[in-house]
Amino acid sequence: MNLTVIDHPLARHYLTVLRDASTPPEDFRNAARRLTYALVMEATRRVPLRKTEIQTPMERTTGYELGDIVAVAVLRAGLGMLDAVLELLPEVKVGFAGVQRDEETALPMEYYAKMPSLTDASVLILEPMLATGGSLSWAVTKAKDSGAQDITCLCVVSAPDGVTRMYQDHPDVRIVAASHDRELSDSYYIVPGLGDMGDRLFGTL
Ligand code: URA
Repeated sequence: MNLTVIDHPLARHYLTVLRDASTPPEDFRNAARRLTYALVMEATRRVPLRKTEIQTPMERTTGYELGDIVAVAVLRAGLGMLDAVLELLPEVKVGFAGVQRDEETALPMEYYAKMPSLTDASVLILEPMLATGGSLSWAVTKAKDSGAQDITCLCVVSAPDGVTRMYQDHPDVRIVAASHDRELSDSYYIVPGLGDMGDRLFGTL
């Protein structure tokens, strides 16, 4: 299983703010951003570095520069994680993947996709709620179609069905989450979860 659940007191704290149904959108957005810092730190643990020679005030020494990193935000809830990524990785290029469920077939249906070149980049896919895995699996396929080979998905909460689906469809892809929750409800919400991430971020309840 390619799932890493970050175990950190700050992540637990901000996840609690997100789970609390009384948290208003402004506080929810702040908590999502702050929790994403922790996810990014874990997700980038293995990104390649280029060695560089630098001069400190004292002597010459070896420094390190980040290689190419691309983030792909799965619309719309992935937007709630994007500010943290842009702040920690200011040179990141950003793609967008918009998908919705076809009500008749229940299959993921693309409504928007814009990817930068993903060849040779470390790709971070931002999909906060890994529920059935349909949207994330589709977004990963899109990224692979654009040349991605090194892919890590950042999720606030994962569910067993989604993680299983991702392992079946994309066993080469890593998942970093702040929590692995118990199950899906009959309407495919994660339980205990935090409700509809997009609605809670943007106040569209
Ligand atoms: N998407 C959400 O926003 N929340 C869930 O619980 C599942 C999917």
